Amino acid sequence: MARIVNLGQQVWTNYHQTAECNLKSRIELVNSDEKNGRAHLKGVAETVRDLLGEARQYQIPVRPIGAGWSPSPINVVEDGWLVETLRLNRTYTVAAKDLHEDCEVAAEALLLVQAGATVDEVYESAEEIGRSLRTGGASNGQSFAGACATGTHGSVWQAGGIQDHVRAVQMVTPERILWISPEKPVLSDAFIAQTGSEIIRDDRVFAAAQLHIGAMGFVTAMLIETDPIYMVQNIQKATKIRREHIDWLSRGEFRKFSCEFGLNENPYFQQLIINPFDPFDKKCLLRFLYKRPFDPNIPPPPPRDMGAGYDALTLLGKAMAHSDLFKGAIMQFAMEQGYPDNRDVDDPPAIATWGHTTEEHAPIASLFNGSVTLDRNRLGEVFDLVIDNFKRGGGGTVVTLRFVRQAAGLLAPAHWPDNVVIDFDGPNVESSHKGYKKVIEALDEAGIPFTRHWGKTNNLDEQRVKRDYGQNFADWKWVQAQVMPDPADRQVFANEELRKLGLI
Ligand SMILES: Cc1cc2nc3c(=O)[nH]c(=O)nc-3n(C[C@H](O)[C@H](O)[C@H](O)COP(=O)(O)OP(=O)(O)OC[C@H]3O[C@@H](n4cnc5c(N)ncnc54)[C@H](O)[C@@H]3O)c2cc1C
Repeated sequence: MARIVNLGQQVWTNYHQTAECNLKSRIELVNSDEKNGRAHLKGVAETVRDLLGEARQYQIPVRPIGAGWSPSPINVVEDGWLVETLRLNRTYTVAAKDLHEDCEVAAEALLLVQAGATVDEVYESAEEIGRSLRTGGASNGQSFAGACATGTHGSVWQAGGIQDHVRAVQMVTPERILWISPEKPVLSDAFIAQTGSEIIRDDRVFAAAQLHIGAMGFVTAMLIETDPIYMVQNIQKATKIRREHIDWLSRGEFRKFSCEFGLNENPYFQQLIINPFDPFDKKCLLRFLYKRPFDPNIPPPPPRDMGAGYDALTLLGKAMAHSDLFKGAIMQFAMEQGYPDNRDVDDPPAIATWGHTTEEHAPIASLFNGSVTLDRNRLGEVFDLVIDNFKRGGGGTVVTLRFVRQAAGLLAPAHWPDNVVIDFDGPNVESSHKGYKKVIEALDEAGIPFTRHWGKTNNLDEQRVKRDYGQNFADWKWVQAQVMPDPADRQVFANEELRKLGLI
């Protein structure tokens, strides 16, 4: 079982102070001392099921949360129970006998993680057993379930989102405890029974649960697949690019781009932070990571050398401490101040494991984050339109380009074979919102299909979600009705934002 700590009625504010709510109670779930892994997973799931059952009985909405890092109001609930999961954070290895005989993944590649384990905790557990994750976001403090909920991604162009690691999900509703996996079995029937769960093996149900947006039930644990441990070499620099380089990126000519600014090899990861006031005459900030074999003799370098913490959000936080006036030259100054260490090709190489490429993050009050995801092949066509409209709308902060493959999950925003994600990160002021809205209007007017991040400011509603996801949205809703056939169960997970999105 899990211990339930009732922290009482209070006003709760999310990490970036972009949303708040009046809670009936803030509840923390804490692991018990149970040593046996299966008994523990069973006990926690039963505690959650009973809590959800009670909520249903008294018609109290429940919001499970991880780190509360989503700036969008999907993690708040008015007059309900906010259930914190960060202390449900154990990770377990699995034995071959725990797997189904038809499972095609080796036991040593798998890790069982509780929902509240942070991305950083999962990185560490994986490294302890000689494994790595394939991708992740720019920071590492999200819970694993929370990060998967919204399709958190980085810029590993051959990987999708963090949810792509997931091979099975333990999902709890007011009435049921389920292990959901693809049709091809992963966990053995005996293991599933010992964790007190029913089996659902169905590709469509699994694809809905992989990116659940907190509206498919309460995730208590996940089985994830990892890669053999590897290291990455960081090259990070401030430099000018030309318009034609955007076309190279649009065509996926990453090696050519890397050869021009970094090493003559395919980068594993690449990211550009651009000053929209002058994208080509002012320097942009480039970051490449190149895959290297694991060498236990290389000590972890300081996070600074790996570029950890120099994502746009952290960068802006540093800059905002000095100035809230983000215009042209001032922004360029702020960008380069926040990104001081060039780690160029001629510098001594900075090499570390994947887990050392991000670091913990300190909260920055009231930031704006919005993004659009679109077919990478159209980047060349939309780049000027996006930048011009962002500026025209008054948006005066940095624009980041990241690249990902098609991601898992019916409602994954990265649903083209190759995607570019264009991030707009800045202070939470009217001009940031206006700039973002202008970009959206311009893309719509130009007839360019795009999607938006579930966890960031997105101005989405049900009609738009239906239009963006079509049959996948209908399938996701169908799955939700299979997992929670009784509408009263679904109502337990209702909040204003999920209703607006048509997800509850
Ligand atoms: C500093 C910072 C950096 C970021 N960098 C990136 C980035 O690089 N790339 C990117 O894509 N995004 C990024 N984000 C966004 C962030 O990764 C997502 O918003 C992510 O979903 C947050 O995870 P969380 O654990 O805080 O989830 P929360 O915000 O707590 O929850 C997100 C959703 O999941 C639900 N949920 C959480 N836990 C459970 C559970 N156990 N069961 C059911 N539902 C649950 C919540 O109810 C909510 O609907 C960043 C955010 C911050 C603050």
